[in-house]
Amino acid sequence: MATRIPLERIRNIGISAHIDSGKTTLTERILFYTGRIHRIHEVRGKDGVGAKMDSMDLEREKGITIQSAATYCVWTGSQNQLEEHNVNIIDTPGHVDFTIEVERALRVLDGAILVLDSGKGVQSQSITVDKQMKRYRVPRIAFVNKMDNPGANYERVADMLREKLGHHSVKLQLPMGAEDKFAGIIDPIIQRAFFFDGESGEIIREEAIPAEFVDAAKKAREEIIHKVADVDDELAEKFINEEPISTEELRAAIRRATLALKMTPVMCGSAFRNKGVQLLLDGVMYYLPNPKEVVNEAHDQNNNEEKVILESDPTKPFVGLAFKLQQDKYGQLTYFRIYQGSISMGDTIYNTSNQMRKVRVPRMFRMHSDDREEIQTAECGDIVAFYGVEASSGETFTDGKVNYTLTSMHVPAAVISLAVAPKDRNAETNFSKALNRFTKEDPTFRVHQDEESQQTIISGMGELHLDIYMERMRREYACDVIAGQPQVAYRETITQRAEIAYTHKKQTGGSGQFARVNGFMEPLPPDAVETYEFVDEVVGGSIPREYIPACDKGFREGIKKGALIGFPVVGIRCTVNDGLSHAVDSSEMAFKTAAWMGFREAYSAAKPTILEPIMKVEIEAPVEFQGSVVGQVNQRRGVIQETISDENVTVTAEVPLNAMFGYSTDLRSATQGKGNFTMEFSRYAPVPKQEQEEMIKKYREKVAAEAAARK
Ligand code: GDP
Repeated sequence: MATRIPLERIRNIGISAHIDSGKTTLTERILFYTGRIHRIHEVRGKDGVGAKMDSMDLEREKGITIQSAATYCVWTGSQNQLEEHNVNIIDTPGHVDFTIEVERALRVLDGAILVLDSGKGVQSQSITVDKQMKRYRVPRIAFVNKMDNPGANYERVADMLREKLGHHSVKLQLPMGAEDKFAGIIDPIIQRAFFFDGESGEIIREEAIPAEFVDAAKKAREEIIHKVADVDDELAEKFINEEPISTEELRAAIRRATLALKMTPVMCGSAFRNKGVQLLLDGVMYYLPNPKEVVNEAHDQNNNEEKVILESDPTKPFVGLAFKLQQDKYGQLTYFRIYQGSISMGDTIYNTSNQMRKVRVPRMFRMHSDDREEIQTAECGDIVAFYGVEASSGETFTDGKVNYTLTSMHVPAAVISLAVAPKDRNAETNFSKALNRFTKEDPTFRVHQDEESQQTIISGMGELHLDIYMERMRREYACDVIAGQPQVAYRETITQRAEIAYTHKKQTGGSGQFARVNGFMEPLPPDAVETYEFVDEVVGGSIPREYIPACDKGFREGIKKGALIGFPVVGIRCTVNDGLSHAVDSSEMAFKTAAWMGFREAYSAAKPTILEPIMKVEIEAPVEFQGSVVGQVNQRRGVIQETISDENVTVTAEVPLNAMFGYSTDLRSATQGKGNFTMEFSRYAPVPKQEQEEMIKKYREKVAAEAAARK
């Protein structure tokens, strides 16, 4: 077996971007320059092949990347100046409906490239992705792509990083020209110029800096030192003492500051025109962390969830996280990030997230998009894929010596739901199989059975999110789906405290039922993590201890369906503090019923209100359509937050999800097909009074009609 590359020379990186900034193109170029693929296919290419990372047909058609695939490549530097490094790239999706994929990818990555469009700079999705990266403390390099495009402005994008995202952005490169005059890139650190020749930019020509850029390049180096010294003491000392600073010292300082999240290196290029990608890869090696430089924590389930720091040591007990499931032509693939220890083919591992269920690792692979390379062993720091390992994404596995779980990933609430059924009854089995698989793959995709209508309801992060899964059912499971109208996931909540006091008494024949529950309900603070809390303040045994859980159960029945429009109640705390029981007639059932009935009685006194999901929408169109775009947003109860216009107008607004149905069609017709938009969940907010009244009226009519039908 080949000797393993030491951990210092491994990089696990992600590439994140707003849709259409060129992430797929960039990934494709990286695979090309690292020798993993031998020809470049353009995204939505005319040759019908499509970029390699978009491995699903559907993605190829829609031209967007919706599933992150891990791929592995090797880099030895643009000038062969580096020792061999291994790079694992997770292609993270750009579309907002799939943020869970981004979150998952970030959980397992050590560093990232944030791709920005040189003309558009920091866009709505860049902000979302950046927020997620901050949460997982992922150091990042900003790559200003499309330097060849009209309107390219490297400086402005670096400024936007500072203004919009609060990054200490430091421009590490100096582009030679921009737009159609973009000729190459200067590295001010080493004071050299780079040009990219050959059919696909694979021949790198290093030269002295052209005369016209000499002054600018000197100034650029000074600026880098100045800015890095602002956040790195070691460099600051040299700088203050006016000592000479070597390339190595400067790079080391940039590396320290980047890893400490104190600065963001800014680099530039044009993926499409094959310029600058190799230098960006060098930057990944120089400035992004290796697995040893990242602190990963787990929770010890044998010790009260006590936090433990995992060690990048192959001799320690194995700990790995299943972060991605994928069905490929060979079978069920599970992607793993190994955090500690090592693993070999044939080993037995234990699912600590699922009662230590035992599984064997039959075969193990390094993945390169659709292709794969079988390996015998893997170690901490590696990202590998197993065949034949049953798991849900987000589950932790160990070798059984430790019972650790890695912190769970942040799962956003579903905002939209849809009733679905197979068109053909014979497809019923495939229908359930598909739903089963999707929920395992994607925690933001949920399925439940509506108790009354007996319909299957799927819910998720947006219309497109659900569309994609219905499409996948058709293609991968030969199951056509009929779907109802999409439903907004409304919530109900209370706005004030109300007393609960209910006596449940029933005398039917033999033994009766008796329970009294006293307490109150109140709104939870807005920053509460849970949506429901139960508090037991019963003293002196007025409710016997064994019946306390039954009170909790009764309240939980209550929150399942609010009385206003039958949607779940959130942001509520229910407290029991007194009650009465009867030696013979009290039972668990009686207390559950009393709590439930008490909840229903108190609910209206607590001034309930209906909440709806509010979406953050970013619309872009040629500026002549500004009037109609703004008009449409206003019509849809939107609140405009920002309008930026040059030749294009970008409108950022908050709009209720309920008002967004059919928007893409309307926008298209209002802008001659030139407008586009992205949308993501922002928060829940109360529905305006008048609309609430209409919703309540409709709900009551529906309930009455259903009751009449039952008679
Ligand atoms: P993604 O949505 O971020 O994955 O972006 P894609 O890689 O699909 O690129 C979106 C579009 O921008 C495609 O038409 C690309 O050909 C184009 N594109 C990507 N990189 C560049 C670039 O550097 N310059 C120019 N002019 N176009 C680019």
